[in-house]
Amino acid sequence: MKILKFTQKIKEEDGAVIVLVAAAMAVLMGMTALVVDVGNLVLVKNKLSNACDAAALAGARELPATSDAEAKALEYLQYNGVAPEEATITISDDNTKITVQASRQVNYTFARILGINSSTTSARAAAVFGSISSISGVVPFGIPDQHLVFGQEYQLKAGTHDDYGPGNYGALALEMPGASSYKNNLMYGYDGKIAVGDWIATEPGNMTGPTRDGIEYRINQCTHIPSCSVEYYHPDCPKIMIVPIYDPTSLNGRDEVKIVGFGSFLIKDVWGGGKYVSGYFLEMVPPEGLDYTVDPNQADYGLHAARLVD
Ligand SMILES: [Zn+2]
Repeated sequence: MKILKFTQKIKEEDGAVIVLVAAAMAVLMGMTALVVDVGNLVLVKNKLSNACDAAALAGARELPATSDAEAKALEYLQYNGVAPEEATITISDDNTKITVQASRQVNYTFARILGINSSTTSARAAAVFGSISSISGVVPFGIPDQHLVFGQEYQLKAGTHDDYGPGNYGALALEMPGASSYKNNLMYGYDGKIAVGDWIATEPGNMTGPTRDGIEYRINQCTHIPSCSVEYYHPDCPKIMIVPIYDPTSLNGRDEVKIVGFGSFLIKDVWGGGKYVSGYFLEMVPPEGLDYTVDPNQADYGLHAARLVD
């Protein structure tokens, strides 16, 4: 009698263990389902997101040509493994912004146990194309707003004040007045940001030595082979300078100019011991490492870029 009761007791406990194990298994399966299927969902979402970013940026570079922009966005979506039927491309009424949306149904493997068969994930990206309305790394030269032609040579600094006004030779004071700040900004570019609408002080004086040293420093920093020229240049070459463009005005001594845009110039030469500097006007996106903002409504001076927004 005693023994029988003992066996019965064990069987009852076994049953409880089985129930516990089954419950634990279900939890474990549920966890596995979560990890594997949600992991996969995140993976697909990231893939869609990257594809939308790439497509929006590529499309934006074609704006305001809307059909070219759409075709380019589609091309980049497909290149990144997103089918046209998974995507929606829209362009704003003013043709300055492209939005790419993609969604995909993801079938679950393990979560089916929990009765969830699939889920839809989506991503979205928007990009604008516009001109640069503020930027870091500019050089302390300024040129008056004029009709600028790509590939043409322009004077960036003169040996006389004839083109600017008494005491002015083309230099700006970006950070603080003085030749040492001027030379520093010439060599490395101003590390602060200058924006359209800013009033910037001019830097009177010829400053031939600092000009020669600053420009020669940049020329020597170009280690590209062959050395960068207007026919072929490396987009991040130190010989490329971002130059503020200002509202034309006659200057007198330490004066102020109003910034209306930014252009990029490839140094052609410095001569006259630093009296003269000229450069070729370029069309390009800002060199790597510069901090800038893009504004579709900003007047274009050849320096423009596509940017992801919101
Ligand atoms: Zn170079």
